[in-house]
Amino acid sequence: MIMGGLRNKMGKSKLATPDWIKEGYDSPAEYAKAKGIKNKKEKGKTFKIRKCPKCGSYDVGVVLTGEEGKGAKEWECKKCKWKGKDVEEEELSEEQFMKYLDEKGEEVA
Ligand SMILES: [Zn+2]
Repeated sequence: MIMGGLRNKMGKSKLATPDWIKEGYDSPAEYAKAKGIKNKKEKGKTFKIRKCPKCGSYDVGVVLTGEEGKGAKEWECKKCKWKGKDVEEEELSEEQFMKYLDEKGEEVA
């Protein structure tokens, strides 16, 4: 016996309303933003900055140590005079980075 095949094909007639509409947002992007969901396709720029592990200052620079031919590098904190290789790195978003530059008071080259 062949019967009933078509009947079950029509499932629900109601369309599911997306969450962003239900919660009153204007667009899925807005919803994602409010929920803190990051769009993976949209790659945010990040900036790596160096930080002194001793005093936490960002005012660190590279110093070349004297060994010839090796090109050895060390970091030096201009604030507390810390020197070493294991400088701390921090990854900042573009927004944070701009703020950091502001606080540093340096002009962006
Ligand atoms: Zn320091």
